[in-house]
Amino acid sequence: MLTKRIGIDLGTVNVLVYVKGKGVVINEPSVVAVALHDKRILAVGNEAKQMLGRTPATIQVIRPLRDGVIADYLVTEAMLRYFIGKVAGGFRLFKPEVMVCVPAGVTSVEYRAVRDAAEQAGARRPAYVIPEPLAAAIGAGIPVGEPTGNMVVDIGGGTTDAAVISLYGIVVSKSVRVGGNHLDEAIATYIKRRYGLVVGERTAEEIKIKIGSALPRDEQLVMEVRGRDQVTGMPQTIQISSNEVAQAIVEPLQQIVAAVKAVLEATPPELASDVVDRGIVLTGGGSLLRDIDRLISLETGVPCYVADDPLSCVAIGAGLALEHLDLIRRAMPLDDYSAIAASSTG
Ligand code: ADP
Ligand code: MG
Repeated sequence: MLTKRIGIDLGTVNVLVYVKGKGVVINEPSVVAVALHDKRILAVGNEAKQMLGRTPATIQVIRPLRDGVIADYLVTEAMLRYFIGKVAGGFRLFKPEVMVCVPAGVTSVEYRAVRDAAEQAGARRPAYVIPEPLAAAIGAGIPVGEPTGNMVVDIGGGTTDAAVISLYGIVVSKSVRVGGNHLDEAIATYIKRRYGLVVGERTAEEIKIKIGSALPRDEQLVMEVRGRDQVTGMPQTIQISSNEVAQAIVEPLQQIVAAVKAVLEATPPELASDVVDRGIVLTGGGSLLRDIDRLISLETGVPCYVADDPLSCVAIGAGLALEHLDLIRRAMPLDDYSAIAASSTG
């Protein structure tokens, strides 16, 4: 087959590209370095991330997506062009078929912006767009085509999306602007309040990944943390335990739990009973936090488990969805149909 089929997870934190037959071939941060004077793109992905915090005043490092939607259109397009180009190789006679995910509940303007950006960036027309929860569920191996309620909760960097899916369609969904990044912020705030120590975003994330936990643990993990003393301004080292981290992140975790509960409450009874039988599936990087599955199970009374390879589910699902276009389109709102039709003629 000469036409490549590509699924793209256009995340706030990372972009993943899945190629049919090859798997996830690109996994890079969604950042772009831009020259300020002429807006030229200097670097994308890993290379641009290296520059974060280290650039002269003439270079700006941009995250073109915010809360899962495009905040800077031209930079997003350039980023997509770079990634699609990397995958498609030099031989562009056959443009790749591309499916990009968008958060559930985006406006039609946001939806079209993603589709147009993909087409401008070298995707075959029409480029397809799929709601993220549906892609996550497909990528997690959930049988979304059955007339059964399936619940997926994707915990990303900036948002958490909870959805119930049946027959390729999203029956109920809710997106909250709370994700892994907010856990990092909460950890940094806690350390500042309790120890008078200022730590950066990266350190806070490292603490979360190394010793963070959604619930207090019997065996405590401990970590040394370096930061800057708020009063003296000098470097300082403290020790922090996993139970302190658990305490620090209670509030954002409760917001995530509240979103899951809200979706369960709004789910029609038959589908809700399916969800109770089958359990909730967690995807996204945030689902790797220790015991977050247990926390959600405890709070909702519904069994909960983390998908295999939760960071890749959305990209894999978007790629696999290209094989089921008719079914997925059938389940999409009419508005989206006409958007797809308009793009293929325009
Ligand atoms: P997005 O889809 O928004 O780009 P991802 O699904 O890639 O986000 O998840 C990114 C988030 O996952 C970040 O907040 C990151 O800190 C978090 N994360 C990644 N690995 C882990 C881990 N092992 N434990 C806890 N959080 C993690
Ligand atoms: Mg994501």
